[in-house]
This record gives sequence, C-alpha cells and structure tokens, in this order.
Amino acid sequence: MNKWNLIVDVANCTNCQLCVLAVQDEHVGNEFPGYAAEMPKHGHRWIEIDRYERGQGDKVDVAYVPTMCQHCDDAPCIAAARDGAAYKRDDGIVVIDPDKAKGQRQIAEACPYDAVWWNEDLDIPQHWFFDAHLLDAGWHAPRCASVCPTGALRVEKVSDERMAEIARDEELEPLRPDLETRPRVHYRNLWRAKRAFVAGTVSGKVNGVIDCIEGATVTLTGGSNGSVMLETDGFGDFKFDRLPADGQSCTIQIAAAGFATAERSLTLSESTNLGDIRLERTG
Ligand code: SF4
Ligand code: SF4
Repeated sequence: MNKWNLIVDVANCTNCQLCVLAVQDEHVGNEFPGYAAEMPKHGHRWIEIDRYERGQGDKVDVAYVPTMCQHCDDAPCIAAARDGAAYKRDDGIVVIDPDKAKGQRQIAEACPYDAVWWNEDLDIPQHWFFDAHLLDAGWHAPRCASVCPTGALRVEKVSDERMAEIARDEELEPLRPDLETRPRVHYRNLWRAKRAFVAGTVSGKVNGVIDCIEGATVTLTGGSNGSVMLETDGFGDFKFDRLPADGQSCTIQIAAAGFATAERSLTLSESTNLGDIRLERTG
C-alpha cells in the first residue's frame, strides 16, 4: 500500500516561513472534526524552522531545518495514548483524535521530537497532522508543501519499498536516527546542520608582499575521516566539510613549494575557522 512521506531539503529552505503561515492560515480558527480542533492563535508552531549556524568570522554557514511531527511508524505518542486517542492510519499518517485525547497530557510529553503542543484552553495535545483532512478530500499535498516556493518540502505517496529506494538514491536521513522511531519525514542535506567543517586561508610572502597562496596542499588526518586532501583556491581558501562532529582529534597540514610546512591540531566538536595560516619562506 502507498503511504505518505514528507521530504525536507535543508539546502533549499530559506526560512521564508510561508509553510509556518500556511499551517496557521489553515488551522487557526478552523476545526476539522475527527482530525483536529482549531489551533490557538498564539503559542503553537506545528511547523517550526530551526536555525543552525556553523563556523566563525568570515567563514560561516547558516542552515534552516523545518521540523514538525515526524509521523513515526514506531510512535511513542501512540504508545502513551489511552483509548486509541493517537493512532496511525493505513496511509502512514499519525492522528491525535481531538475528542479522545482530552486531558491526555502524557501524549505530548511522550513525543521525543517535542512536536506535540498542549492546548491549554481545550485541554488537548495537538500536532501537524499532515493536513490529512485535505488529502482525504483529494489534495495531492499538505498546504506547507503546496506553498513552499523553493521545493524544500515535497511529498511522496509510495510504498515503503519505493521510499527506501528514494531515500537511498537521494541520500535521505532521519532527523534523529538515535531515537529509532522510523519517521515518515526524511531529510536531505542535513549535514548542513549536523556536521562540521574546518576552513582557513593560507598566505605567505611573495615578491616582498603578503599574498594568498593558491594551490597549497592541505591534508586533514585523524578521527573517523582517515586522510583527505585538497588544494587552496585562488583566494588561498580551503574547506573540508561534512565531517562528523564527534569530538575526535585531527591534524591539518599545509604544504606549498618554497614554504615551510605548517600544522594545526584541533578537535572536531564543531565547525572551525582556522583563520589566516601564514607560511614561512624556506629560503
Ligand atoms: S516555505 Fe519552504 S523555504 Fe520557506 S521556510 Fe518553509 S520549508 Fe523553508
Ligand atoms: S513525532 Fe512525536 S507526535 Fe509525531 S508521530 Fe512521532 S512521537 Fe508521535
């Protein structure tokens, strides 16, 4: 059977917030019996855009990661619910019944993604339910994906086998693999938020003036990376990216003809801008 999946491409999200507004437009002041009660005007963000900043100084990278209910196949919210108040539909969507869930705060507390919001006025837990009311009415996508101007949100209604192929081909990954909840929201280019880079600029004295050095060989050794090598560009810049931020030690070695080799040691716990690395002339 085909089931719904949402694919989030972090590299395409510009933080325009149109998806956030679309959710509010659809749900604030509107109730959909059997699916959801109305969303409060203030305080709830069923879709949020998390900001991740990497690096320092002139070498920074900012990524935006849309987060929402992940529609887990092994959903802790369902396990915590009484009387079938939270359940998974045959098409993969998780619904929290607005009537049965009344007073069941444990449903919100059970979600390890903090994707369930507590409605104080109505005494119910609420989440982004994939706009199941629209899909059941024949829509081909929830409103968030319909309005996203950059293609950062897209849906696939396919078999689990086909989705596994798509995930493999497009290098999709779960937001939090450690939680093992088998989510139906899949992320592309999540390394922009979760992995680290090491960057810097190589310079030295050339014809009596300090200049950037193009074509210097930079080698990163250590940790789980083994040994990787690249050359500085026309501005003397280098950047190793997608490195696991696992706290392991590594060494950067810079070599250029006519200069003494330089070396820097660091720990890969976050992205690092090594700044200007000035090479000394050998002769
Ligand atoms: S509408 Fe698309 S680009 Fe804009 S914030 Fe949402 S996911 Fe990002
Ligand atoms: S993300 Fe949270 S609310 Fe959504 S299905 Fe998973 S456990 Fe339930």
